[in-house]
Amino acid sequence: MHIIESPEAMARWRSSVRGDIGFVPTMGALHEGHMSLVEASRTSHPCTVVSVFVNPTQFGPNEDFHKYPRPVEIDEAMCLSRGVDALYRPNVETMYPPGFQTFVEPGAMAARWCGASRPGHFRGVCSVVLKLLNQVSPQSIYLGEKDAQQLRVIRRMVSDLNVPVQVTGCPIAREKDGLAMSSRNRYLSPSQRIGADALFRGLIAAKDACHEGCRHAADLEAGFRNLLAREGGWECEYAAVVDDDSLEPINLVESKALFIVAARRGTTRLIDNMMISGPDSAPMAGD
Ligand code: AMP
Repeated sequence: MHIIESPEAMARWRSSVRGDIGFVPTMGALHEGHMSLVEASRTSHPCTVVSVFVNPTQFGPNEDFHKYPRPVEIDEAMCLSRGVDALYRPNVETMYPPGFQTFVEPGAMAARWCGASRPGHFRGVCSVVLKLLNQVSPQSIYLGEKDAQQLRVIRRMVSDLNVPVQVTGCPIAREKDGLAMSSRNRYLSPSQRIGADALFRGLIAAKDACHEGCRHAADLEAGFRNLLAREGGWECEYAAVVDDDSLEPINLVESKALFIVAARRGTTRLIDNMMISGPDSAPMAGD
């Protein structure tokens, strides 16, 4: 496995690669969710590149940039054992050298949901992803459905700016109890971890209710908020039924929709989502 630590070294390595590249951008603290993206890339490309970069420009001033986990050696071993061809881990100084001042400004889709509580977050995400795409120059980029808004905002950027890459969204990898895998799950104390699957249970309850004919977004959203309130120890940031492509809110589920949620458990912010559908729509994957 090649370990590449600067844009210059990436340019040198990239010019020596002939075949297709699949690219998995991450912030490290790798888990099986990240590895499912690696697997997806490896089945379609002879060469898979994983980047590990904790990107400062996507964190707000009071967020967890400094405490974000950075288990460098464990990440490296995990990539090696899963057949990653190149691990790209540039440092902040080489990604944002003195004088850096150019950013990608995403549109309305980035302003709501996570964008509302994290101003500037998707501007930072889009900017770093475009930089990484320019550096790695892959045929495909693999992103998780776990970060549903991020996936759609990046799809939009790739389309709007004619970035020559195929975007592939991969299903959410979950712990045994249903909690979506996330590097931030390690912030949960053992007592907070118990019951952290309430987000998943709330989404399943909404999916079941919708399937049984409860199509009003307001009722589904209230059901979810009530479940978290009953469980206790949660502060719900948003629970919304939205259009799967545009992420615009939906009042009534006609056929299918995306249920997106964000909530805090103590100081840990968790997000999750699930497709839901009404009684007469065709079964969805995973049904
Ligand atoms: P992160 O390191 O959290 O920035 O995530 C890097 C990539 O892995 C993003 O495309 C995420 O959506 C994806 N990812 C993170 N957690 C999961 C998960 N549980 N299942 C699938 N993909 C995930």
